[in-house]
Amino acid sequence: MGKESKHSEKEGYFGEFGGRYSPEILHDALVELEATYKKLKKNKHFKKELEYYRKNYIGRPSPLTYAERLTKAWGGARIWLKREDLNHTGAHKINNTIGQVLIAKAMGKTRIIAETGAGQHGVATATVGAMFQLETVVYMGDEDLRRQELNAIRMRMMGAKVVGVSAGTATLKDATSEAMRDWALNVSNTHYIVGSSIGPHPFPTIVRDFQSVIGIESRKQFKKENGKLPNAVVACVGGGSNAIGMFYGFIKDKKVKLYGVEAGGYSSTPGSHSATMAFGKTGFLHGTKTLVIQDEFGQIVPAHSVSAGLDYPGVGPEHAYLHQSGRVTYANVNDEGALDAFLEVCRIEGIIPALETAHAFQYAKSLAKEMGKKEDILICLSGRGDKDVAEVARLRKGEFS
Ligand SMILES: *Cc1c(COP(=O)(O)O)cnc(C)c1O
Repeated sequence: MGKESKHSEKEGYFGEFGGRYSPEILHDALVELEATYKKLKKNKHFKKELEYYRKNYIGRPSPLTYAERLTKAWGGARIWLKREDLNHTGAHKINNTIGQVLIAKAMGKTRIIAETGAGQHGVATATVGAMFQLETVVYMGDEDLRRQELNAIRMRMMGAKVVGVSAGTATLKDATSEAMRDWALNVSNTHYIVGSSIGPHPFPTIVRDFQSVIGIESRKQFKKENGKLPNAVVACVGGGSNAIGMFYGFIKDKKVKLYGVEAGGYSSTPGSHSATMAFGKTGFLHGTKTLVIQDEFGQIVPAHSVSAGLDYPGVGPEHAYLHQSGRVTYANVNDEGALDAFLEVCRIEGIIPALETAHAFQYAKSLAKEMGKKEDILICLSGRGDKDVAEVARLRKGEFS
């Protein structure tokens, strides 16, 4: 394995980032989780079970689609899409929740909990909770509940309890804090399914491993079809799980350029964006050492994005490391740019992408124009945008009524 992964196996550090900075009360649970996962990872039965659900429940492998019309419209490099939008529940999140529910089952847990922003991870958790008949509780900020009511209804229909969180800005960061509190109180029978490559060790490693199926499949599919590898790979970054999963297929291929795209919001002033790589400083958030958007006193500054899934003031510790090491280039795209790309992909390709993914599309567009026609860009299409159509229609008043 490459240098990047060696860090992660060692005490859960990626360079100086990562580690386990969580309340004392969770220490034993995290150690147990780490030990269980280490064993399961090599267990034949576990691997077979995971493979079974990937194929027969999620619908993997997800297709690789050549975007002929986007390629033509952008007038540069060829554009390829890894279709995580076609997974059951409509995003990459289920790759992780299936894996983690199998760990929870192996540990004999009877209850699962999760945090959610846009509600995608909540839905993916409610889904596996129903399938394995486990008591399921999902924490969601009141502000996100308002923006994504339909996802809350989906979760309840599948039997999950959705708990609104009114603390702070009532968004993802606050829901995560509340889920951590629940876990500390109920750790004996409960597994916390963290939804992105964030949190204390071993979560960033576990989530990355389950999401790396995206990059491993993509590399194989692309090579089979083209006899070569793509020149560039682009993915959006909230906490960073779809991106790290995609990048992991290519991280050792030094000639493949990797690009992570964060949410630039509506301006560069604190509180109006989620561009952690551009504006964050080293700090601690949700049990890990990473880059965090904070003020001069070290107080976390609320994040903003038009897409609830990117609305997070930190980033996974492995991304902070990949930024520092230079292996991945991070950029950001603002709300308007994401909205434009969202509508362009709808009209040109007949695919409604998630607003999160639209950030990656807008960045890929500028990249494509600088590249040659024989070069290739692979985009991680992390999810479908059905959840976003009401919000987009509201923001583009009158255009769709
Ligand atoms: C949750 C979500 C994201 C952002 O989360 P990451 O952990 O950064 O991948 C991106 N796209 C979609 C469709 C999502 O649901």
